[in-house]
Amino acid sequence: MTGTLYVVGFGPGHEDHITDRAKQALKESDYVIGYKTYMELVAPLIDGKEVISTGMSEEVSRAQAAVKQAERGKTVSVISSGDAGVYGMAGLVYEVLAEQGWDRKNGITVEIIPGISAINSCASLLGAPIMHDACTISLSDHLTPWELIEKRIDAAGAADFVIALYNPKSGRRTKQIEEAQRILLKYRKLETPVGLVKSAYRDREEVVMTTLGEMLEHDIGMLTTVIIGNSTTFFYDGLMITPRGYTRKYTLTEEKQPLRPHERLRPENEPWALHGGEEEKKQPLKELGLQALAAMQKQKNAPPEVKAIFEAAVSPGVVNKHFTPQQLIALSEAAGEKGTIEYTPHHYVMLKTETADPAPIIEKLREVGLELAPVGDVVTVKACDFCNGDKSDAIPQAEKLQRDLGGLSVPKELRIGVNGCGMACYGAVNEDIGIVYRKGAFDLFLGAKVVSRTAHPGVYVAEGIPPEKIVPMLTQIVEEYRESGHPNERFFKYFKRVGEVEGFIHRDMPVPDVEPMPCGE
Ligand code: SAH
Repeated sequence: MTGTLYVVGFGPGHEDHITDRAKQALKESDYVIGYKTYMELVAPLIDGKEVISTGMSEEVSRAQAAVKQAERGKTVSVISSGDAGVYGMAGLVYEVLAEQGWDRKNGITVEIIPGISAINSCASLLGAPIMHDACTISLSDHLTPWELIEKRIDAAGAADFVIALYNPKSGRRTKQIEEAQRILLKYRKLETPVGLVKSAYRDREEVVMTTLGEMLEHDIGMLTTVIIGNSTTFFYDGLMITPRGYTRKYTLTEEKQPLRPHERLRPENEPWALHGGEEEKKQPLKELGLQALAAMQKQKNAPPEVKAIFEAAVSPGVVNKHFTPQQLIALSEAAGEKGTIEYTPHHYVMLKTETADPAPIIEKLREVGLELAPVGDVVTVKACDFCNGDKSDAIPQAEKLQRDLGGLSVPKELRIGVNGCGMACYGAVNEDIGIVYRKGAFDLFLGAKVVSRTAHPGVYVAEGIPPEKIVPMLTQIVEEYRESGHPNERFFKYFKRVGEVEGFIHRDMPVPDVEPMPCGE
């Protein structure tokens, strides 16, 4: 057997939306078989071919004729509008072949060529109504019991699917769409957005935006696809849009997002998700499901639910590294049942707790001698412990830096390392800005790259800076960076870009020659 049978989806109807593979198959074919109207749509592509065009309800004879010609060694295309695998000819061709015992190895070659289905073409004309979980339901009950179709409409309505109704109505079948509306109104509001698209990308294309309550007042026919929005779908400037859910996590009007990239997948930031950990074992699945449903049923256009989370960097001091038991008790009380206390690499613990009024928490923590600072893109001062206070000369500068600069907002987090002797064992030279106290004065290092395998220390730009000058100098450097740094531009990048900060010249530091790691891997 050498024949080939192509089952070709030619998309909505315009040549621009037919794939190259489909065109190629038609070109190769000896025979093209399809429904009359479709033949007209692809007429320019099938010029000079043997054409077998049949009436609408003659799919079975079309499929049989196609198989017969292919078995005679011919190359045959059976065409379907949209995608041949969506209420098209693909399934039927395989059923006919299966009935006669065809097998893939010895039988004729079959290739299904995908096309753009009406759900996609019609959606594109409406805006972005699919975007989320969606289903197609054909209202044609010629081959499917109405009882089953009803059940599917009901289930799709209950589960808040966006629904594309194919074959919504014909001359004889007029009640089905009315029934569909009745069932869906059990679950969805009268004003639920509905798009009616007739003859997408064909000559008589018509697009109507309406609502579930009013859709029957418009013309719906055999060539219409009805797209019914879910509970969050909305109209905007003549477009129908179903949100994907971004506003649960993102603020679309701000450049700076409330959640940083590394925080976005944390379980506490996705309370609606089904997490796999211990926590969920305690929470019955049903409850999680109800939460998800409640989230889904949120009013369209409703502002995203905002929870007030209080977040702070807590430490026993910029120099002191010891927590007292009282401080730890106060910290755990501040976190409460649901808060978190995270041990960070930056000489502080991060406290996160849900509250709209953090004042009492702040007061209690301060009472036990803890220091609080904002987290995020702010200045953090990281001092060493000055050998448990033995090498105390530079402590006043560390404390003043913390008072003057700690918590200031900057384009990107900025750490100032302060080390009390030339040992620099707390790694000040590896911070964005590092100062090391030595022989009564400070050495200054600028622009370390603090993370990644191409990390490098800061540029050694000055030595012997007198103690009284160091805080004003760093203040000026920070001020300049605050003013001129691009959003999200880390200090080392800024320094390299501008080449000079407060008179200090940038030099490239040696970096290991390693393959850069793409983010997130
Ligand atoms: N295989 C086709 C579907 C065939 S069922 C596909 O994948 O798109 C026929 C139904 O498809 C029609 O009743 C209508 O609901 C929908 N349809 C097909 N082409 C369409 C078009 N160009 N515009 C709007 N609806 C279309």
